[in-house]
Amino acid sequence: MPHKTIHAGLATLACALSLVAATAAAPAAAGASERPRALATIGMIGDVASEIAGPCLEVTTMIGPGSDPHLYRATPSDIRALDQADLILYLGLGLEGQLATVLERLGARKRVTGLGAHIPPEALLADDGAVDPHLWMAPALWSGIVTPLADALAETAPDCAADIAARAAHYAALLEALDGWVHESVRSLPQSRRLLITAHDAFGYFGAAYGLELAAIQGLSTESEASIADIAETARIAAEADIPVIFVESTISPRTVEATIAAAAKLGHSLGIGAELHADAMGAAGTPEGTYIGMIHANTRAIVTALGGIPAPLPEALEPWARQVGLAE
Ligand SMILES: [Zn+2]
Repeated sequence: MPHKTIHAGLATLACALSLVAATAAAPAAAGASERPRALATIGMIGDVASEIAGPCLEVTTMIGPGSDPHLYRATPSDIRALDQADLILYLGLGLEGQLATVLERLGARKRVTGLGAHIPPEALLADDGAVDPHLWMAPALWSGIVTPLADALAETAPDCAADIAARAAHYAALLEALDGWVHESVRSLPQSRRLLITAHDAFGYFGAAYGLELAAIQGLSTESEASIADIAETARIAAEADIPVIFVESTISPRTVEATIAAAAKLGHSLGIGAELHADAMGAAGTPEGTYIGMIHANTRAIVTALGGIPAPLPEALEPWARQVGLAE
């Protein structure tokens, strides 16, 4: 079952939150921003929210760069931030586990928006009956959060509604350009090389959107250890398809990857480790990968290059973004 561990960590949060609700909220610190505050669970939501909010709201993210949402435990400062937020943005679809229930309960006294509920159910992938929550991996699908996100921001900062609508339209156009660029980049790969081997199955939407087959050593969640049979099977697939690399994600331990490389070597196949992919979290703040667009851009470049393709030149629509994040093309 995916995302099971997060349930345990967040049961504690549920208790702590009921304490917060029972006591008076601490007054805001002197000099604190007077802008409405939006709090996002994951960086991929927080970044899109801050692009669309512009200066109108203060947007913060709960689960920071490099953190694994599958294993995340809320901190006391998260609880304060949840209490002080004017708007809470989360994905739902099982990603935040028990936290989603807590957030829905908070919805009785503040604005809480579950963005996943706005994605058409027929667009979602499932694994053993559980919804795969990693939909940020396909920009065309992720752009489905733009309108509900913009609506929630505009309701929280009504004076800014026109600005927010304009920014949302602009950002949706960037995502469309990004989607086109990923398609074009993947098309540079020969058909036989369109196979992505990763350590956990976060790339289902990426594969489905861009025509890459996937092999993952373990399932949707990072909580379970891969079995020896999983490792042997992955090594066999890599050897048969002559795939040169396996990708390690930023939020996962490389141990099972090393075991897979050893198993492939026994089959006479040399398997290397590809560049680090961003699966469940963006890169460090202040780097291009610390943005949603940059995360998809970096993943695509790493995958396409390692499998022997050539990433397409960035479309004109993304050039201002590339300059802004300091990405030299
Ligand atoms: Zn994941």
